[in-house]
Amino acid sequence: MKKKLIAGNWKMNGSLAANVALLQALQAGGANASSDMAVCVPGVYLSQVAQLLQGSTISLGAQDVSSFDSGAYTGETSAGMLREFGVRYAIVGHSERRQYHGETDAVVAMKTQKALAAGITPIVCVGETLAEREAGKTEEVVKRQLAAVIHANGHCISEIVVAYEPVWAIGTGKTATPAQAQEVHAVLRAQLLAATPQADRVHILYGGSMNAANAAELLAQKDIDGGLVGGASLKAPDFLAIAAAA
Ligand code: PEP
Repeated sequence: MKKKLIAGNWKMNGSLAANVALLQALQAGGANASSDMAVCVPGVYLSQVAQLLQGSTISLGAQDVSSFDSGAYTGETSAGMLREFGVRYAIVGHSERRQYHGETDAVVAMKTQKALAAGITPIVCVGETLAEREAGKTEEVVKRQLAAVIHANGHCISEIVVAYEPVWAIGTGKTATPAQAQEVHAVLRAQLLAATPQADRVHILYGGSMNAANAAELLAQKDIDGGLVGGASLKAPDFLAIAAAA
């Protein structure tokens, strides 16, 4: 059985001092045999966090990556630049980027390609809004989002991580029930299986108000291979408890 992956998404939170305190507490909490841990931090802190994580089992992640290699793209950071700082994972297509930065399925597919080409594992986020769920469109939406990524990255699709993050559950305190989450994860697994015989290798994470209290039940589902954790990843005891629940 593959190890679970518990990745924290700090979003636009942190400070030089707070990062030191959080990472010290996480490292003091110790490695967990049943799960791998990663922290996806704001770009300006990559250098600091890379240094703080030296010799640690916690991996470094970014929250976004450019769909371009270099050039006149003000404000962007390329996959090659991230790699120079020892970045192992990059979140791609988070719903906040889709919503506030207009990222389309095609852009998300390109970003996935750039990350893979640089040796960074993309954590590709998919998920439906509340209106889409209520309209019975959950499966259609997540399959469309993942299909774009599969189409552009076919031959190395088993190298990605997928995160199912229902938009209505992100930062709201509303979590998908384990059964609701498993149902969508099974759809995603089947879609991956149609694209690669190695679909079982792909980690499919659940994200959306995962916390110390609900993690164990979610992570016990057959196709839930870990978590992408926002708010609770900023509190060391909560993040450690989620990792231990895996
Ligand atoms: C996220 O931002 O990916 C997320 C899942 O956030 P939260 O855990 O706060 O809902």
